[in-house]
Amino acid sequence: MSSSPMASNGPRCAQVFAILAGFANPASAYDVAERVGSAFERRVAPNSIYRILDLFVARNLALRIESRNAYLANNHPGCVHDCIFLICDDCGATTHIDDDKTARTVRNAASRDGFLVKRPVIEVRGTSTASHQS
Ligand SMILES: [Zn+2]
Ligand SMILES: [Zn+2]
Repeated sequence: MSSSPMASNGPRCAQVFAILAGFANPASAYDVAERVGSAFERRVAPNSIYRILDLFVARNLALRIESRNAYLANNHPGCVHDCIFLICDDCGATTHIDDDKTARTVRNAASRDGFLVKRPVIEVRGTSTASHQS
């Protein structure tokens, strides 16, 4: 009866992370909630998944793709960048590149305008030629 609240109220972080890492493309909280729910054979509220996903983002364990309202497990939690995402309109495949010079340019431009920068969001839409060559 004295298990942690996380364990009694909902899925554990490690379980949610394992499921997030199983997605090839960015997954929404609903996608993750659905898989967690079927893994544990009970309904899981997307809200509780949101909280866990945001925790992952705060710890750099997951990356948030703003334009998709979706999340990706981060393969390199040790390095912190303003990640740039390349999002394929055809299949949703999302790759990520780091270009600190570009990110710094955006940050500086915003600062020069008197803006207090939290983080730049740089997402590029298009077609991934690597996965669509025939
Ligand atoms: Zn990155
Ligand atoms: Zn594609």
